[in-house]
Amino acid sequence: MKASPSNDLKVFISNRDSRCDECGEDLGHRAWITLVGEGRALCLSCADLDHLVFLPAGDAALTRRTRKHSRLSAVVLKWSRARKRYERQGLLVEEAALEQAEQECTADAAAREARRARAAERRAELDDQYVVRFAERVRELYPGCPQGRETQIAEHACRKYSGRVGRSAAAKDFDEQAVRLAVVAHVRHTETEYDALRVGGWDRKEARARVNEEVSMVLGAWRRSPPPDPENRR
Ligand SMILES: [Zn+2]
Repeated sequence: MKASPSNDLKVFISNRDSRCDECGEDLGHRAWITLVGEGRALCLSCADLDHLVFLPAGDAALTRRTRKHSRLSAVVLKWSRARKRYERQGLLVEEAALEQAEQECTADAAAREARRARAAERRAELDDQYVVRFAERVRELYPGCPQGRETQIAEHACRKYSGRVGRSAAAKDFDEQAVRLAVVAHVRHTETEYDALRVGGWDRKEARARVNEEVSMVLGAWRRSPPPDPENRR
């Protein structure tokens, strides 16, 4: 079931200094924020949208296909001073949905070239050293985390959108709490029914409460045992 366009989640690229009303983090200007309730601004981490990637507007076929595959998406809007209205910049979408849509769209050479450019752009957002170190820290604190997940978690944490956990001052020091937040967000989206609940219209807080125990159990398991070593099976 798809939400109608008017129900779409909206993310605003702010044009003045913003602060997240939930975590209190200073987001700077040009922060990506969502608005909830009575004009409260949330950073993408607190809004649980920080696992999504940005698809710029401009390719109608790709946008349509990505939307179809992405369970959760948000419209990104920016205020145009010249035109005095919000203008659509693109969508935040699930990365797997974008990749699937890109594959479907690569029938011709021009589309393939555009895909390569976008993939390069997404990679360029990442600071390789940072990702490697963040991933090592995840592995160190959560030895039971399945192989490869530490890199996924680190890449998401490292995306340069303002307000994302990975770019905050604390995460730059690979503070245990900052790493934990990134792992919690990942577990919530990948190991629980959280996203399905949100798509089904559950409120963020209700949905978080509902999956809380499951998240704790997964974290507990990841903290304890290392994953089975395929070379060393008994
Ligand atoms: Zn926040």
